[in-house]
Amino acid sequence: MSQTKDSLLVAAIIKEATENSQLENLANELMNGIGPRLVGSTKMQQAHDWAMANYSSWGITARNEKWGEWRGWERGISHIDMVAPWVKTLEGTQLAWSPNTGGKAINAGLIILADVADSLAFQQWLPNVKGKFVMISMKQPTGRPDYNWEEFGTKESFEKMKKDRTAQTDAWRKRITKTGLTNTNLILALEKSGAVGIVASNWSAGFGVNKIFDAKTKKIPTVDIALEDYGLLYRLVESGKNPTISVRADSKELGMMPTYNTVAEMKGTEKPDEYVMMSAHFDSWDGATGATDNGTGTLVMMEAMRILKKLYPNPKRTILVGHWGSEEQGLNGSRAFVEDHPDIINNMQALFNQDNGTGRVVTLGGAGFLHSYEYLSRWLAKVPANYKQALETRFPGSPAGGGSDNASFVAAGVPAFSLSSNSWLYGSYTWHTNRDTYDKIVFDDVRNNAILTAILVYMACEDASKASRDKIVLPINTRTGEPGKWPEKRSPTRKGGAD
Ligand SMILES: [Zn+2]
Repeated sequence: MSQTKDSLLVAAIIKEATENSQLENLANELMNGIGPRLVGSTKMQQAHDWAMANYSSWGITARNEKWGEWRGWERGISHIDMVAPWVKTLEGTQLAWSPNTGGKAINAGLIILADVADSLAFQQWLPNVKGKFVMISMKQPTGRPDYNWEEFGTKESFEKMKKDRTAQTDAWRKRITKTGLTNTNLILALEKSGAVGIVASNWSAGFGVNKIFDAKTKKIPTVDIALEDYGLLYRLVESGKNPTISVRADSKELGMMPTYNTVAEMKGTEKPDEYVMMSAHFDSWDGATGATDNGTGTLVMMEAMRILKKLYPNPKRTILVGHWGSEEQGLNGSRAFVEDHPDIINNMQALFNQDNGTGRVVTLGGAGFLHSYEYLSRWLAKVPANYKQALETRFPGSPAGGGSDNASFVAAGVPAFSLSSNSWLYGSYTWHTNRDTYDKIVFDDVRNNAILTAILVYMACEDASKASRDKIVLPINTRTGEPGKWPEKRSPTRKGGAD
């Protein structure tokens, strides 16, 4: 009887996800219509309101829960040109929270962070930065990713390139250490000494990809320039051709802004006080549109919830979806949820989080819960083979200490699992890069994950028993020789970015 009921529902989930998919439309609205979702930005707020409106259109209750506040900053136009010795518009952008250029362009020459003997020599060199943009990143010897060298280069030239690059990377690290300052303090010292801006290039080891994080400067702009253009400027400076650049950055400060999690809910009928939760962080870095970090995780959870509402509107346990704010600054939204809702946390059957790209889920571990094998295997058994191709399970697995929001729940003893995707070169090409955009989404894989998640959530809801929270005895830490310790709960940063 139950066999039939389950398999009918599974078939209906697959049919709905395949024939009436909302993924493309949701992705277009979120990534292209709204754009990047930096904590504290107006776009983040728009995204929360957008999620609420979608849930409401599907007849699902949702709320925006305020958990803190953050320095609000709105990206504006940033435009970077080389104006001498010849003219070229450069590929680059302001880093998040970077000061603006006061409504005008700054024209100035460049200086490369000097290779000095020690901190005293550095202090003596510092006045040279006055009136200049300071280049603080190393010049990459090649703009070709390793896989390209491997395919086309000789073995000897590939090895030689890697050896040279490692030597240059080490030398650059030493160049910074010899200043006697940390990375951040170095930048502040440059700012204090009259530099007009900081120019960096955080190459992400692929064609056309740079990682775009936050600025450390307080008054002068910080921009990241793509490897190709950064290399051009660097070589011109080195060879005495004195390039000049023009930088305009029009960002706005918004003061402190409230920060939220969006939480959607379908009340349970038999056990309303027990919870099964799906989650994915909602915020992103803002060098692109956060399509795979974590637009795709967001889409999976929204689509799974939409389908469940349509086909399984009276779940046995309560189903929740958590769209977390400020994961990128330290799992803040999910830590706040754990701290603010002990009642839900203590009665959570299971949580499924996804946060490593657009790919099909290929790894599911037991997160260090002793009996996870028993219930996860039972739930997974109802997923047709097609939707768990190449899926590897790891039991008992180990508890996540960080990485993404499932860690916030594991620390509170909740059986919280990471649905881990195959790579699609996530780490180099999309994670926190300027190329994390709609076109990188692989919709068939995202659809696969929505189906998988919906079935797992359904099974966890229907289970006759409560999932065991017994933990494994963690192995001895080989580094310290001490017994392994379960990760501890941590409080979120509730007021961020203000210093
Ligand atoms: Zn992420």
